Amino acid sequence: MALPDSFAQELLNRIDVVDIIDKRVQLKKRGSNFIACCPFHEEKTPSFTVSPSKQFYHCFGCSASGDAIQFLIEYEGLTFIDSITELANSIGLKVPSEAPQKIEKTNEIARLEEAIKIASIFYQKQLRKSEKAINYLKSRGLTGDIAKEFKIGFAPEGWQNLKIPFKKYEDEILVKAGLVVKNDKGKYYDRFRDRIMFPIYSDKGKIIGFGGRVINPEETPKYYNSPETPLFQKSHELYGLLASRKSIREKKYVLVVEGYMDVVGLFQKGIKNVVATLGTATTGFHIKKLLRYTEEIIFCFDGDDAGRSASWRAMNNALISVTDATQLKFLFLPDGHDPDSFVKKYSSKDFEMLAKNATPLTEYIIKKLTQNNDLVNSEKKVKFLNDINPIFKQINASKLLLLFKKRIAEMINLEMNEIDQILEIKKTYIKKSSTKVPNRLLMTSIRKFCLLLILRPDLIKQEDSKYFTSDTTDGKLALAITEITNKGGQNNSAAVINFLASRFDADFINQVHTQLATFDDSMEMKEEINALRASIVKRYSSSTNKSKLIEATKKSLISLSEEERDFLKNIGKL
Ligand SMILES: [Zn+2]
Repeated sequence: MALPDSFAQELLNRIDVVDIIDKRVQLKKRGSNFIACCPFHEEKTPSFTVSPSKQFYHCFGCSASGDAIQFLIEYEGLTFIDSITELANSIGLKVPSEAPQKIEKTNEIARLEEAIKIASIFYQKQLRKSEKAINYLKSRGLTGDIAKEFKIGFAPEGWQNLKIPFKKYEDEILVKAGLVVKNDKGKYYDRFRDRIMFPIYSDKGKIIGFGGRVINPEETPKYYNSPETPLFQKSHELYGLLASRKSIREKKYVLVVEGYMDVVGLFQKGIKNVVATLGTATTGFHIKKLLRYTEEIIFCFDGDDAGRSASWRAMNNALISVTDATQLKFLFLPDGHDPDSFVKKYSSKDFEMLAKNATPLTEYIIKKLTQNNDLVNSEKKVKFLNDINPIFKQINASKLLLLFKKRIAEMINLEMNEIDQILEIKKTYIKKSSTKVPNRLLMTSIRKFCLLLILRPDLIKQEDSKYFTSDTTDGKLALAITEITNKGGQNNSAAVINFLASRFDADFINQVHTQLATFDDSMEMKEEINALRASIVKRYSSSTNKSKLIEATKKSLISLSEEERDFLKNIGKL
């Protein structure tokens, strides 16, 4: 379904985020806001706030933030479209039906998203038509329902099938979206051919790329992903996270597996707290993202050599993010099994049993490092310490590090301080917390002006646009905000941010949310805005005057225009 952007904004102007959230999480009034214990991370004292005036939520603990649409995406695991539909239904608003696509959007992000969406609908249609693809999925034990839920599709054989949904096939935007490849000779062809297509969703519930899996087992590579695009960064995204979030919170742990087929296969067997990396090693980004939903992460790798080395890499990347509250565990399946084949042969209960008994992080490290080292002599003990030293150095969790070292010391009959001496480890177990300057202090006056206008869209003036250029992010932000007045109608803060989200990347929007959340509602916004506008105008006119002056001084007196002479005469008075 293709929705006009303006619909999301209209919707946000008509619903109340407090209502929407209160139905799911009990809110308490506190000052002008509402608060609750955060539904997105575990906590005992509330740091989750919902602002009726700003129409968004923000958690000071885990920085989850967004509008009502985003709340349903995060909390219920809905896609963007489903979230909008649910909200619209709740107030009896009709969702505009599939309209013929005019790609008039100038914005690149929006155009890329549109192209991916169109391709995804095409692939899903093709799956329904292809007996071969359907038979393959059936042979893997997948039902039609699960294929539908994950919007699984099929890219048929042939070089230019995407000519069907796209009128303009030789379009750079299709190349940029990773759908079409342009070769050295300038020929265009489909990137994905004869593959089962798994759409990959962003945190915002939009499709941002695809993973393609071969049907014929002889073909390689087995999994093939969209390339890195402005929408899609492999090292940041996790397959299945949108659908699994709810279950991760309920079960209080997440399973990280290797392939999309494992995610879908486990899902179908009722194990829904599962995600997969996208053909990359597990990165620090992945870990941080998962720690937003749960503190227990269980890596589940195949029982072969590739699986074992992948898990060691995952461990190394995860170490730095481990806190004393985090639990990392490692689950190894019997040789020859992947999660999908295991649940099929045994049961999901057996699988969950294995997960419960997975090896904890420090055990795993010890097991691995003593696999070929029996520690029987000094040389072997030194080797062991040398192997483990870089691991110690990466652990920031002070209690865990202390206990881990104690354990190691006991293993080789040394005292703790002797280990420290040997490894020259600094005595301070507790790292100094980083002295990060809060975002709020790093705010330019333009940024502050923009943020205030987001809070009070009624005070945006159309002529504000002339004071800014798109050279800086803040300038771009200001221009985008003034643009919204051209669209007419009354907007609230959530609608303005929704519009901005089509122009800026998710990290930036998140930063805006965080900064906004620190603003006090009782601030005299009108006065603040007027004062900032006055200083921006002043700076603008002095810089234009300067350039006029430079322009004028380049010319000989005689060639000056009337206007320029006047300007020079009056320059002292300005
Ligand atoms: Zn939170």
